[in-house]
Amino acid sequence: MKQTKDVKCSFCGRDKNAVTLLIAGENAHICDQCAQQAIGIINEEQTTKLKQTLSSSTALLKPADIKAHLDQYVIGQDDAKKVLSVAVYNHYKRINHQLKSKNDIELDKSNIILIGETGTGKTLLARTIARILNVPFCIADATVITEAGYVGEDVESVLSRLLMASDFDVKSAERGIVYIDEIDKIARKSDNPSLTRDVSGEGVQQGLLKLLENTIVNVPPYGGRKHPEQKMIQVNTENILFICGGAFDGIDKIIGRRLRSNSLGFKSNDQNAYDRENLLQYVAPQDLKAYGLIPELIGRLPVLTALAPLDKKALRSILTDPKNALIKQYQYLFEMEKINLVVEEDVLELIVEKAHEYKLGARGLRNLCEAIMLDAMFEIPSEEDPDNEFIVTLDYALGKLHKANLAKLKAA
Ligand code: ADP
Repeated sequence: MKQTKDVKCSFCGRDKNAVTLLIAGENAHICDQCAQQAIGIINEEQTTKLKQTLSSSTALLKPADIKAHLDQYVIGQDDAKKVLSVAVYNHYKRINHQLKSKNDIELDKSNIILIGETGTGKTLLARTIARILNVPFCIADATVITEAGYVGEDVESVLSRLLMASDFDVKSAERGIVYIDEIDKIARKSDNPSLTRDVSGEGVQQGLLKLLENTIVNVPPYGGRKHPEQKMIQVNTENILFICGGAFDGIDKIIGRRLRSNSLGFKSNDQNAYDRENLLQYVAPQDLKAYGLIPELIGRLPVLTALAPLDKKALRSILTDPKNALIKQYQYLFEMEKINLVVEEDVLELIVEKAHEYKLGARGLRNLCEAIMLDAMFEIPSEEDPDNEFIVTLDYALGKLHKANLAKLKAA
């Protein structure tokens, strides 16, 4: 047996009398200084690991890489893609920066607001970004959120979805992306708050603000109010990227008015310097305020960009070009039945014409394709000896669309 006076730190070799504290293990000892050093090493190791996980999906992805990925899935919308790529890149750079230094310049969060008609790709952009970065993603609808005490969902339930999307891995949820749809529907109805004040819209905006600020929110894991007994999970929203989207019907008039009044002082031909057909591209924060968003909320959504309406060329391209284009999806479904699906060019043109006419953006394409393909998808799997090719001709498509009652599609 060792003499007490022989006891030394097994790491630095210092004698018991030379240290403040010596902790005994089974066959070894560690002094307070070595223990302290070990804790430092562990902390550093953990931070490096966290940094690696946080940056693993983004380290190689520069804004141009992000945009190139988006190009594979989303047609057109170049401006929005560029703005989004930079915002997302900066967002994850900001997260990495936080880990590196604590007393340096603080980078503001770059939450995003996307403005554009329905079916122009707002949700698709947000979803694709999340997929590229491999982070949890959820979609919430601003219209179902209500002020506390009213029928509907509490604002915290938005984060319940994110938790579910990350299999309740809180750390992973805390660097996810939330897409909040129909943000325009919670606008105050009048620009003049003192007159017809729409309290409920403003109340919901205040609620959302709570999420957008860097706070710790108590989240009911399964959302809703149906499970009052559920144990809350604390989620820090500091590194969650919020992307809000809305059609903002009628905002073009507000933008137009502002542009006209801005150009009053210029020569008359300067007034033509902007594109009157697509005013959305000039959207500025003050237009959102005039539309009825509260300034605090606008301030928390510093990255503002607009999506252009999809023209026929874009709609035609959406049918066949993206990585998971609609027609490619149908071809894949038929391939599983060992059938080669051919959709003739004039059918594609017909679908584009109708979708454009109904002003449903790319959403209309899907409805029209379904109407044309439904019978075939119903009948072919039961056929005894199906042909190995199925050709959709213009006559066939017109017949199916006629049968499907186009007016119904229009209302869809
Ligand atoms: P929004 O959110 O703007 O209303 P979505 O992103 O939900 O529209 O679009 C609806 C569908 O239309 C998407 O699932 C996608 O298939 C298609 N789509 C819309 N815009 C585009 C686009 N720019 N490029 C490719 N597909 C698109």
